[in-house]
Amino acid sequence: MTVGPAPPAMRRCPRCGHLTRADRMIKGYGRDCAAQLGLIGRTVDTGHVGPDLLDLLTEEPEDACDGGDRPADRP
Ligand SMILES: [Zn+2]
Repeated sequence: MTVGPAPPAMRRCPRCGHLTRADRMIKGYGRDCAAQLGLIGRTVDTGHVGPDLLDLLTEEPEDACDGGDRPADRP
């Protein structure tokens, strides 16, 4: 077999259809979608403390769940 880091388990976000790392999903949705659906409170225990989470997400495309890790070779 090949040598290297194992690819993370990917699951399709039911909201936007993008593949998202399963270990980052929240209630079955990508993190961004979960935030937009209100599944993430402002005091969620992600270890993040600060201003409104959505303020930090505006730098990313609004339909991107997990841009850094999302492969681009899937429809
Ligand atoms: Zn999504």
